[in-house]
Amino acid sequence: MADMPRVCGRFAPSPSGRMHAGNVLCALLAWLSVRAQGGHMVLRIEDLDPDRCTRAYAAQLEEDLHWLGLDWDEGGLSAGGDYLQSACTARYAEAFHALAARGLTYPCFCTRAALHAASAPHLSDGRVLYSGACRNLTASEVAARASVRRPAMRLRVPDEDVCFVDGVYGTVCENLAQETGDFVLRRADGVYAYQLAVVVDDGRMGVTEVVRGCDLLSSTARQLYLYRLLGLTPPHFTHIPLLCAPDGRRLSKRDRDLDLGCIRANCNAPEPFLGQLAFLAGLLDRPAPLSARELIPYYTRARLPRQNVVLSPKTYRALCNQT
Ligand code: GLU
Repeated sequence: MADMPRVCGRFAPSPSGRMHAGNVLCALLAWLSVRAQGGHMVLRIEDLDPDRCTRAYAAQLEEDLHWLGLDWDEGGLSAGGDYLQSACTARYAEAFHALAARGLTYPCFCTRAALHAASAPHLSDGRVLYSGACRNLTASEVAARASVRRPAMRLRVPDEDVCFVDGVYGTVCENLAQETGDFVLRRADGVYAYQLAVVVDDGRMGVTEVVRGCDLLSSTARQLYLYRLLGLTPPHFTHIPLLCAPDGRRLSKRDRDLDLGCIRANCNAPEPFLGQLAFLAGLLDRPAPLSARELIPYYTRARLPRQNVVLSPKTYRALCNQT
């Protein structure tokens, strides 16, 4: 019998700020899932966006993962370019040009304002479904517009359902044309889009499972379509509910909500914090101070919640009391 591929998971953080408790919950569950199966963990720094990501945040992120006891077998800053998206542009360009050569891409000259003003429907998560305004431009229209503005490059998507079985949400289907629309592969400033980069990287790194926040659930159909076009094997996906502040809003890196700076100043050791997260994720019946390693036997996907987890004011204050 052929060997089963080894389980390979990943941390794929964007170093655009200090990790908050929700980011840690994702990292913890991704790590527990891999370690519970004796698998291999990769750390890839998703620093594609030069305006938002810094080396200093990436270094802080690694230091925070060490403090939490979440280790990795491959990757990270010291492993160099292959694990830093900002250094992998040539790989994304190669995948992009393969798609372009098949006539699957087109330039889009729409400004952000035009995209929002268009009568295209707004999707439930706030995204705007692209109207297709630039889908059928003639060569001379493209040339005229290109002389005044650099285009983004979009992928044409078919009117087709893409379905997958998610580890928490079960069967999820999205119609590419009606629910995602032709999407951007390369921004007008030349930066390759997350959707393309994540597929190229997870594909080439042999990632077999992805555990990440359910804010990315609606990206998965687009990514699966790219896996198919690029002839890569997709991983299994598990999307986990988001952690929310007591007023129901999602934690945000930009607002430094429950970030590890505050949490580490409040809790001297990671165990009470990790135990609290494991309890919120349904893995423990009550919060108990346990290390990441001690939590491995408690990991079971079946217990993960499907609804976002809203922190009580008391828990919020216990994790990060700023007064
Ligand atoms: N880099 C993304 C983030 O930090 C995660 C991407 C993914 O897990 O696919 O939100």
